[in-house]
Amino acid sequence: PFDVLVVGGGPAGAAAAIYAARKGIRTGVVAERFGGQVLDTMGIENFISVQHTEGPKLAAQLESHVKEYEVDVMNLQKATALLPGSEGALHEVQLENGASLKAKTLILSTGARWRQMGVPGEDEYRNKGVAYCPHCDGPLFKGKRTAVIGGGNSGVEAAIDLAGIVAHVTLIEFDSQLRADAVLQAKLRSLPNVTIVTSALTTEVLGDGAKVTGLVYQDRTSEELHTIELEGIFVQIGLVPNTEWIKGAIDLSARGEIEVDARGATSVPGIFAAGDATTVPYKQIIIAMGEGSKAALSAFDYLIRQG
Ligand code: FAD
Repeated sequence: PFDVLVVGGGPAGAAAAIYAARKGIRTGVVAERFGGQVLDTMGIENFISVQHTEGPKLAAQLESHVKEYEVDVMNLQKATALLPGSEGALHEVQLENGASLKAKTLILSTGARWRQMGVPGEDEYRNKGVAYCPHCDGPLFKGKRTAVIGGGNSGVEAAIDLAGIVAHVTLIEFDSQLRADAVLQAKLRSLPNVTIVTSALTTEVLGDGAKVTGLVYQDRTSEELHTIELEGIFVQIGLVPNTEWIKGAIDLSARGEIEVDARGATSVPGIFAAGDATTVPYKQIIIAMGEGSKAALSAFDYLIRQG
């Protein structure tokens, strides 16, 4: 069995594997797609000490750094079930291919995925004006016209954040009213360069073949279609943790995030978690790496206390 089995090969999982392997303990990583969300990212400018990099390049560096160590990397393998061992027994992770892996400790770092609008043009213009992370891509739209899709807390926070950088923000909400906290809504309404559109269904992302030029929404009351000319669209309709396979085995929040404490420990002794799949606030590469490192040190600390 593994001393530490990491499930998920994004920034959190890669950091966890390196920290564990550097303790000289038997470490494995199983990942559906090594690199995780980083593979889908273009420019990265907030990975501190690296002014600019690109997602696929960083993903390749993550993999080569992990492979510097004796880590058993099992890529293109999907975990489908978690069977926690009770009272110091081994934990088991079942894979889609029918195999199962056993380990004394687990680090769950299966990340998350942004919920998409599912409208024409969204995929085509992803990273060409369609964005999901205001902390990451906001500065790319300095002085430009943007829209935020979604009037929940994350959408309204994104609109407030962007309003300080971009020329104009149109916030588009499907419902007849915003769902964000009142204090955020008040802040948003106080900003001069924000327009709020409610009861609106985004139906299409428009572009010129190279980049976004606008969007179309339907007024759900009049059913009329409207076009907005703009350069950027931030989709903020939910970040979904990849934890469906864990449900029932450990405690998850109402939003499906793995509940972790300050050490990365979950509700089951010996099972730790890190990164976007957890309740840790702010989903970012550098944060996921820090959390993964921390979870590995916690797993090591747990192991040295076992009989
Ligand atoms: P992920 O990167 O999501 O990795 C999860 C890993 O788990 C993957 O290997 C996945 O294949 C695997 N996995 C999932 N389910 C299973 C399963 N059942 N079995 C086995 N393996 C599984 N952050 C920044 O800091 N700067 C940026 O500029 C930036 N830009 C972004 C741009 C885009 C388009 C996106 C989508 C995200 C961006 N982010 C950015 C956010 C950043 O990518 C994430 O915060 C970070 O990747 C989270 O790392 P993670 O390891 O927790 O999860």
